[in-house]
Amino acid sequence: MIYAKNYECLSKDDLEQLQIERLQATLNRVYEKVSFYKNAFDKNKVNIEKIKSIKDIKELPFTTKDDLRKSYPYDMFAVPLRDIIRIHSSSGTSGKPIAVGYTRNDLKMWSHLVARVLTACGITSHDFVQIAFNYSLITAGFGFHYAAEEIGASVIPSSIEDAKKQIMILKDYKTTALLSTPSYALHIAHVLKELKINPEELSLKIGLFGAEPWSENLRAQIESQLNIKAYDNYGISELIGPGVSFECSERNGLHINEDHFIVEVIDPKSLKSLPVGETGELVFTTITKEGLPLIRFRTGDISSLIEEKCSCGRTLIKMKRISGRTDDMIILDGLNIFPSQIEEILLQIEGVEPHYLIILDREEGKDFMQIQMEVPDSIPYFDELKKLEDFKNRIKDHIYNKLGINVKVTLVEPRTIARSSGNKINRIIDKRKI
Ligand SMILES: [Zn+2]
Repeated sequence: MIYAKNYECLSKDDLEQLQIERLQATLNRVYEKVSFYKNAFDKNKVNIEKIKSIKDIKELPFTTKDDLRKSYPYDMFAVPLRDIIRIHSSSGTSGKPIAVGYTRNDLKMWSHLVARVLTACGITSHDFVQIAFNYSLITAGFGFHYAAEEIGASVIPSSIEDAKKQIMILKDYKTTALLSTPSYALHIAHVLKELKINPEELSLKIGLFGAEPWSENLRAQIESQLNIKAYDNYGISELIGPGVSFECSERNGLHINEDHFIVEVIDPKSLKSLPVGETGELVFTTITKEGLPLIRFRTGDISSLIEEKCSCGRTLIKMKRISGRTDDMIILDGLNIFPSQIEEILLQIEGVEPHYLIILDREEGKDFMQIQMEVPDSIPYFDELKKLEDFKNRIKDHIYNKLGINVKVTLVEPRTIARSSGNKINRIIDKRKI
């Protein structure tokens, strides 16, 4: 099924014509309304009148996450604040977030684009859609919620209630489609097994997962344990949230909503554009957004483009599933966390030295973060267990208060964690086999 055939199946020429018209309008608007872009275009001697085809996009400067952080909260908005009717944030973590403002049209467009995502995996007005994403500053919960309402499905906003409650709802409300992070779906599957409930007792048919990278292996596991067909989708808060790209029934690449986002893949080192098929960093230009339009936004996500006819009938180009990141960002339960944020918090605690390891692992189907650190010299090892416990709890509490995540803390003997020898030291071990 295709939600917006007149856009999702455009001929290449018609699509390019639409893209260039929308790009030109966006460029004029940002040059006039956003001082960041006026300065960036002037500095790079960009004459926006000369951007006449999609190929010319290479003349435009990039926008980075750092640019957005520097303009926090509202400096890059292209409309007066009275026209902003919703504000989300780039992630649930603290530190320096990115505020993303939506106008009424932006929200309408967002629901429309996510409705395409839902329709592509077979969700219709007959479905009971359980949205087990956090309804918060991050975008997934609300993005899927309004789109599911738009297509007329029965929406169950279960948010991040614990797994037992999710299962009760799955059973009693006869949920047919589950939307969550893949790791949370796996956790629900695990608890289902513990409760000795056969997935065939449920009405569940479809799973739509996202907000963190996941492998084909994990897909197979979730599908067999929940007895469903599982689909991937991609979005990032800075652009819009969910609704950037999505799998169709082929499940071989994610169609990009190109009538709203112009995609490029670049070499993250040379910053040169790469041809279709080559792997690099995804870069998007928004061409319909009003609140926070972005020109050549560097996502940090690694993928490649697939240009081949898709049996579903859509002509929108596809991207491969995300294979990693250009930086060391950690994605845990859909939250984006940088090791530097953990380090900053640790260093605020008395007696802590910056020698630590972040270990990401999965237990009973649930992802968790373990922080391994050295016992501070101020606490003699072994003989002061109570003090050690207090110390661990202090770290746990600090991290929970600042980042909203529960971590496990383990202590090791002083001077046993590798020290930097001048090279960048790897402080993250990711044991999750995703
Ligand atoms: Zn397709």
